Amino acid sequence: MNANSPAKLTSDCALPITDRDGLRAALVDANLPTLLMVYTTYVQDKDYLDSFAPYLTGIYTAEAPSSVPDDMAQDLRGRVFALLTDPTPPTERPIDPELLRHMMSVSVGENVDPAIVPVLYDQMGFERVLPRKERPGRASPPAGFRVLVIGGGMTGIAAGIKLAEAGYDYTIIEKNDALAGTWYENTYPGVGVDTPSHFYSYSFELNPEWSHYHPKGKEIYNYLTGVAEKYGIPAHVQFRTTVTEAHWDGGKAKWLVTLRGADGAERVEEANAVILAHGVLNRWSMPDIPGLDSFKGPKMHTAGWDNSVELKGKRVAVIGTGASAAQLAPAIADDVAELTIFQRSKHWVLNNPDINVNVNDNIRFALRNIPHYKEWFRFRVYWFTGDGLYGNVCGDEGWDDSDNSISAQNQAARDYALYYIQNKLADRPELLEKIVPDYPIFGKRIVLDADGGWLDTLLKPNVTLETGTIDHIEEDAIVMKDGTRYEVDVIALATGFDLAPALGPIKVYGRGGADLAAAWGKDEARSYLGVMAPEYPNFFLTLGPNSAPNHAAGVNMVIEAQINYVLEALDMLVAEGKHAVEPTVAAYEDWNHRVEEQMQKMVWAHPKARSYYLNSKGRNYVSCPFRLADYWSWTREPNRAELTLS
Ligand code: NAP
Repeated sequence: MNANSPAKLTSDCALPITDRDGLRAALVDANLPTLLMVYTTYVQDKDYLDSFAPYLTGIYTAEAPSSVPDDMAQDLRGRVFALLTDPTPPTERPIDPELLRHMMSVSVGENVDPAIVPVLYDQMGFERVLPRKERPGRASPPAGFRVLVIGGGMTGIAAGIKLAEAGYDYTIIEKNDALAGTWYENTYPGVGVDTPSHFYSYSFELNPEWSHYHPKGKEIYNYLTGVAEKYGIPAHVQFRTTVTEAHWDGGKAKWLVTLRGADGAERVEEANAVILAHGVLNRWSMPDIPGLDSFKGPKMHTAGWDNSVELKGKRVAVIGTGASAAQLAPAIADDVAELTIFQRSKHWVLNNPDINVNVNDNIRFALRNIPHYKEWFRFRVYWFTGDGLYGNVCGDEGWDDSDNSISAQNQAARDYALYYIQNKLADRPELLEKIVPDYPIFGKRIVLDADGGWLDTLLKPNVTLETGTIDHIEEDAIVMKDGTRYEVDVIALATGFDLAPALGPIKVYGRGGADLAAAWGKDEARSYLGVMAPEYPNFFLTLGPNSAPNHAAGVNMVIEAQINYVLEALDMLVAEGKHAVEPTVAAYEDWNHRVEEQMQKMVWAHPKARSYYLNSKGRNYVSCPFRLADYWSWTREPNRAELTLS
């Protein structure tokens, strides 16, 4: 979208809608601000739009009980019904960018920055993007130009789709025997997504069929593998294969990549470019607790769960209290005899009622059939779970309650969380004491909760939250420093992932044999824009250093932005008839300087906040300290002056 010219919102839904009963029922349940956007997309009646503005506040739940008066709501539903069932469908006119921005602002009850309207236009699926291959005047990739993608998870699948659409030959190297990465590997009870899938999904494959606002793991797996099938990805995948090394051959301007197959045999394949999409939350972090290996019963990391292990009637220990534990514990608490949860440090718990809400048939009808509804709904979800949360993590200058919070919005989030926690644990002051953190909220990954979830589980009579320090593990027990001994039958390790070293076991040797693993050391990874590093031509990172969206949902948006950047950089190479692209050292240093400067203002830098985002020296090398929308803008097109092409 050009920020100054009218935008045509596209839709894959047909009009008129002939299932009048279905539509009538859908309109009753449909999200009202979203319906208003659908109506305004067609009619562009600004006065009518504005008449709703006083009633649309910035409060989000998927099916927002809005404060719109009944007669206005009925009037809107009637107008939308008439519009969508009219035998002569309305013609759609392009929308002026200012009206589009205004619609967005009214929809969410907050001012939407004009600078991010093009981002939203792209990422909410409003625009059906022309495959690169079909772009007029674009130079096609030379025959034999091959891209190797390491990893077939959410990022690798998207990379394959976009590479194919651009006419690049590609191969995905996948260590498992199936695609979908995290969503294939994680099968622990309760596994799901605590960010909403109407946003956590590809912008080019919106799914109206989600059964739940926060679907379980299997449904996400089915979505990702379904998309992969649709685009013919599996034919390009070498399964059960790992990458051990990659060497840049300057003479050939190619990467020589060593692959190890399931039989252990190694072979070397050549590629013009490599995209590292091996996943940052992939290598299990196993706790270094003395005696863990001597435990005789089953012990399983959440990401390597063995569903054949019987938990019914067993005494189960869960070590860790992060997002995985908070999904696992509620799912098993009623089955097990005793559940002891071992907490090392406190995580903020934030209420999200939608965690428990199914998407009903009427809403699915709306998402499936009403033109522009699923796109406008995605926008709404993005706003309230994405960049709308940025104020939570970015400090207000001169904020004077810096012990508890870093900004007005951060304080409001803290109050909201506290209200929920205090209500839930009102009758258990000792538990309240164990739960409420002393650092500002969002200082590390929050736990999202709703009725029947994490906090309710901690209240169950067969559940104990142990906050002491584990001393060691014996063959049938976990023993605390104070001597308390918990006899257990099964140990669940919800202990998260090793993000460092960022390359995992892969060795990468760039120009002149430059060793990326050595340069990055244990946990000193740095990059340019999270996507490249000088001396490593045509080697692209995804979710690289300081590009993880830790303020909110949006990993989907970051990976799409990064894949777009990779394609733009490759197209630039092709257009200029060059063979190798890498960032200049100056651009790399400038980016890192900007990151460091902004990071000082972020909640993750608060002296009391400790998280896996920080390296051993306390530097945050994981999080992106900028809004998703800004990051998206910066990765739209490579800045030629910041790149060296040879
Ligand atoms: P995590 O957030 O890193 O939590 C690991 C937990 O284990 C923490 O409570 C940690 O304590 C504890 N722990 C680690 N080592 C320990 C040890 N040696 N002894 C005692 N406790 C130990 O891991 P996670 O819950 O698997 O989540 C990882 C990430 O995956 C999340 O941040 C999130 O991004 C993603 N995730 C997402 C979802 C979703 O629904 N979208 C669900 C699950 C996971 P400390 O806090 O003291 O380190």
